[in-house]
Amino acid sequence: MKFVIRDDDPCAITRPDELEACWGSVWGEIPVCLSVTPFRVPGREGETAEAIEDGNEPIPLEENRELVAYLRDLIAAGRVHVAMHGYHHTTPGGMPEYVAAGDLRDKTLHGRQYLERLLDCEINTFVPPNNGLGLEGFAAVIEAKMNIVNNQPYGRLLGIPSSPVAAADFLIGAQYALRQRLGLRSRFSVNAYRQFKQVPYQTVGPSTNVAVLKDAFEVCRLENGIFVMATHYHAFERKLETGERVGEIVNGLLEAGRAADDVEFQTYDQIWSGASR
Ligand SMILES: [Zn+2]
Repeated sequence: MKFVIRDDDPCAITRPDELEACWGSVWGEIPVCLSVTPFRVPGREGETAEAIEDGNEPIPLEENRELVAYLRDLIAAGRVHVAMHGYHHTTPGGMPEYVAAGDLRDKTLHGRQYLERLLDCEINTFVPPNNGLGLEGFAAVIEAKMNIVNNQPYGRLLGIPSSPVAAADFLIGAQYALRQRLGLRSRFSVNAYRQFKQVPYQTVGPSTNVAVLKDAFEVCRLENGIFVMATHYHAFERKLETGERVGEIVNGLLEAGRAADDVEFQTYDQIWSGASR
């Protein structure tokens, strides 16, 4: 089984010590994939620790020089790999940014280039904020040539395919769905479309059902699949209904992964380069 750590939401209002507290003892040994937002609008959605701070104006990541220097060192050392996580991470009308916001094509191209220059790394992975992509959101990410971490089937959103390559991807998606339904394909697999690749994730957060999560981990191992553990550094101290802290569940899964000789920790790049149709 392949195991990827996905940590969402680092942005201009993240402090290095917040990341250090969660991953400082991990990334010397296991790479951490951070989903970074280039121009975060803090907002007041109440979903993140950062949202406690007031504000409706975007803050460019470069304004947090301490965090940028910290990330550049970690990236250069191969400890951190960066995915783009939206542009502003707003929720217009209560909808995810990449479902409801405008100008997504331009924002996506700009955000990718901006992060690559600022952090001195190549970025070819997109993690949708609030895990949602609409039609325009998919098109924007595809045009910016990034692969996607989320659980939304591509074909079902497409309606009438807009091009031959979109039609081909529609068929590829339908074929994946059918084979999965017939039990011929693991749900922990990369979908290798013509235009992009996509991998599913498993959430570790305050509303996670630990029994279901552990079952998914074991099934993924049996199927030699890809387990993308998706969490938030700012939720590590929050508690599940069953009383455990999110950080404890994360560390428990990492321990289980370390202890199993069939588990290999990887980055998104390794997942994408190892995927075939
Ligand atoms: Zn997020």
